[in-house]
Amino acid sequence: MTDQHRPESADAPASPLAGRTINFGSGGGAPFGGLSVIGGDLAGGDAPADEPLGDGLPTETRVLIIGSGPAGLTAAIYAARANLEPVVLGGSTPGGQLMLTSEIENFPGFPEGVDGPELMNRFRAQAERFGARFHDFDVDRVDLSARPFRAWARGLEFRGQTLILATGASALWLNLESEQRLRGRGVSACATCDGFFFRDKEIAVVGGGDSAMEEANYLTRFATKVHLIHRRDGFRASKIMIDRTYGNPKIEVHTNTEVAEVLGGEFVDGLRLRDPRDDSERVLPLEGLFIAIGHRPNTDVFRDWLETDDKGYLMPHEHTASRIPGVFIAGDVADHRYRQAITAAGDGARAALDAERWLESEGVIEHVAQAAW
Ligand SMILES: Cc1cc2nc3c(=O)[nH]c(=O)nc-3n(C[C@H](O)[C@H](O)[C@H](O)COP(=O)(O)OP(=O)(O)OC[C@H]3O[C@@H](n4cnc5c(N)ncnc54)[C@H](O)[C@@H]3O)c2cc1C
Repeated sequence: MTDQHRPESADAPASPLAGRTINFGSGGGAPFGGLSVIGGDLAGGDAPADEPLGDGLPTETRVLIIGSGPAGLTAAIYAARANLEPVVLGGSTPGGQLMLTSEIENFPGFPEGVDGPELMNRFRAQAERFGARFHDFDVDRVDLSARPFRAWARGLEFRGQTLILATGASALWLNLESEQRLRGRGVSACATCDGFFFRDKEIAVVGGGDSAMEEANYLTRFATKVHLIHRRDGFRASKIMIDRTYGNPKIEVHTNTEVAEVLGGEFVDGLRLRDPRDDSERVLPLEGLFIAIGHRPNTDVFRDWLETDDKGYLMPHEHTASRIPGVFIAGDVADHRYRQAITAAGDGARAALDAERWLESEGVIEHVAQAAW
């Protein structure tokens, strides 16, 4: 993401789809023969007039996928190539988290790196090529009590014989105007993804938990110096991580310190820091800022039906299967450990293969289609 030499990426957070083509069902793949449309008011009801929903666009499918990040789109590619004619409810961020970033240097197959939105448009075009259909709606309710499973979005009811949940997680931000403006220009929420861009630079990490300390230690591989900034006196992190952090000669810890403003015009060139005890302020010159104050999994609509861990992440029961037979889980919505596009995509492939096998075991499809390979 944080390519300090790519100023055109700066407005991505404010308008993640700016300049992107999203094709509603216009892919040149297999036709949707055999799928019935339920809920007769597809073109009316709660659907906004400017949405190209009309008679003939499917709301019923064998594989309903919720989420269109790397996990959901990979599941769509696999399910579509297995002739399962998936329908994807892509949410309000079609393409997922990578739509909010620029240079991706760790996704295999792109030795020169690839722009996040471009990568996700390629995923989507590949899914559409094989017949996946998309509605970029947020699901606000599901009913997982019986098959077909049901999901509602914008007043429309969608039904799936299987369901793949791939709604991801959202990085938490400080919500400063200057932080949002400089995202992709020195401000990041992913050390694994962007640390490499900060070789021989002085940077800061904000946060007080294990993740913040892990990221601060990891970033010392690249940076000349890492400032760990935490607004409280004590840390939430484990003792071992605290000891490791204080023992790292390249890390300087600043407690009782909060970021009042990220400074910089085109790129980050410093922080205005405040001591919340007396409101005194000072400026710290540096070139990068990593926000490590946590992620929020997008699981609200599933919580009445599925188990979550203490952080709110979904918990797969066996492989990608949830405890509800026919409901599968993929990507960051269940993963606070790896949180990478490649691992989410891998999960999407696994979930689609598991869904396909489950449909076969239930007699919904006759045999596992070889087309998936
Ligand atoms: C700034 C930044 C930079 C990053 N850089 C890299 C990198 O360089 N390399 C790398 O490998 N990873 C990177 N990552 C991490 C990577 O983006 C994620 O690991 C990956 O996107 C997770 O994929 P996912 O499909 O599980 O979820 P997401 O990408 O989070 O996608 C979730 C999808 O679910 C949809 N959704 C959410 N709620 C609903 C709902 N109620 N109804 C319908 N749809 C819904 C959203 O619209 C979205 O389409 C970065 C992340 C960030 C934040």
